Formats: sequence, C-alpha cells, structure tokens
Amino acid sequence: MPTIENTSVHIKGNDGRVTSGSLQTTHYDHSECVKRALMKLGLFWLLALGSLPIIFAHWILVPGFFIAGPWMAYRTFQAKYTRNHVRGDCPVCQENMEIKMEARDELPKWTYCPRCSNPLQILEIDE
Ligand SMILES: [Zn+2]
Repeated sequence: MPTIENTSVHIKGNDGRVTSGSLQTTHYDHSECVKRALMKLGLFWLLALGSLPIIFAHWILVPGFFIAGPWMAYRTFQAKYTRNHVRGDCPVCQENMEIKMEARDELPKWTYCPRCSNPLQILEIDE
C-alpha cells in the first residue's frame, strides 16, 4: 500500500517573505515498487507490440520500446517515492495555490507561482 505523507515546507519569495505550505509525497513499500516496475515493463512491451504494424517506423520503435522497457522498469523500481504537490499561500500575492511537483523533485526547488508568476523557492524546514 502506498502511503501519503504531508511535510511542512517554507515557500519563499524573491523579496524574502516566507509563508508555510505542505508538501505531499507518496511513499511506496517494496511490493508496491515491484508492482509499479512490472506495470512499467508491461506498458513498454505493449507499446513495442503496438508499433509492429507501423510501416518503416517499426524497425526503430519495436527494439526501442523492447530495450527501454527493462530500463524504465528499473528506474521505476528505484523510485521509493514520488512528489505530488505543494499547497500553501504565495508569499507575494497571498493567494492560496497548488504547485505541481515532478516525481523526482528534491528540495530546495525553484518554481513560479501559478497565480502571479513570481519566482518562488520551496524550502525544507530544518528542525
Ligand atoms: Zn503568487
């Protein structure tokens, strides 16, 4: 079962103002990692099969997807967690916002406010 964890983060604007937000992360246990890796492998091999009828392009697509399958599955297996999003108030425009995160994002992260487009920095809170 994947577990969802919310951690507190600081959202810092360019002018030094700071607000607090919460970062949502999904953690995977070992069996979940194996399941996700196998699903990724299956998807890529299905894509390899699916590109068989494409004339000419199949010479590249079929071996490409076939080789990429185990590699992508390995990368998925290595990922013990994925970042989801950060929720909080923007220190610049004071609006409540949600910033989408990339699965492999690490903190600190530079991004932009989805409301006012000002640059923001997401920081971990040191205890
Ligand atoms: Zn803003």
